[in-house]
Amino acid sequence: MIIDGHVHIFSRRFYQFWADEARVSIEQAADKTGAEIPATDDTVALGDRWVAELDKHGVDRAVVFSSVIGDGGAIGQIVAKHPTRFSGFFFLNPTHQDAMQRIRRGLSEAKLRGACLFPAMHHFYPDDERLHPMFTLLDKADAAAFIHFGMLKIPIQQKLGMSPTVDLKYSNPIRLHSVANQFPNLKFIIPHFGAGYFHETLMLGSQAKNIYVDTASSNSWISLYPGLTLETVFEQALEVFGPDRILFGTDSSSFPRGWRNDNFKRQQEALASIGASKVDQDKIFGGNMAAVCKL
Ligand SMILES: [Zn+2]
Repeated sequence: MIIDGHVHIFSRRFYQFWADEARVSIEQAADKTGAEIPATDDTVALGDRWVAELDKHGVDRAVVFSSVIGDGGAIGQIVAKHPTRFSGFFFLNPTHQDAMQRIRRGLSEAKLRGACLFPAMHHFYPDDERLHPMFTLLDKADAAAFIHFGMLKIPIQQKLGMSPTVDLKYSNPIRLHSVANQFPNLKFIIPHFGAGYFHETLMLGSQAKNIYVDTASSNSWISLYPGLTLETVFEQALEVFGPDRILFGTDSSSFPRGWRNDNFKRQQEALASIGASKVDQDKIFGGNMAAVCKL
């Protein structure tokens, strides 16, 4: 079973948010990004399109992420319509006043299985005490905390000509260690093997058994390390995390590009070339995420 653990749903609301931020019309945003912006706010139709896309590539399931505040309910509708194809995580800005309420709604109303946090985008440290009640809620619901560390590109912000707002001082995964210790039953997912903080992510993973990594995207951060290859990254991740805490993902997001088969093939090739067993590959490409999402 193949489960893509990292797919962003870019709804019309997502594009509208960024168009508003950049003070351009949604038509201008479509021109500048080259993206096919959904014609309506009906996210269910977009979910149907993603099901067809997964079918085309023989992918069994995907974990879909809302990508703008307020889209969690829409993701819930997609998941409710296709419960055998999707699990959902919601995008969260924990610095917002209503963050607790949004978590409750995401978990109990939309029935989503995790929250996605971006410290460098929203300017907070993951060990900020304000986040403790939020991690407590996720922990009680047996949901996951997906936290992006390392390099963070927001392509739509660049394409719309906006000034960058990402602040990397918030992006070191070591700041998650105390939290991982305080919430030993909560699963923390670090995407892209730490997106540049590979060494720190390995350190954290070796000491905290509730830290998971995802393999998503083309992992272009690897070029920061002379001589490092995706093969070596998988080898070291398997050494430190073992085969049960590595989650396959593609970081697919928009149409017309659709599902990132190129990222899937590259990861398959890397795992085959280092001689990863079929059993371990099956875990990475789906079994582990099935366990995280309680399927
Ligand atoms: Zn992503």
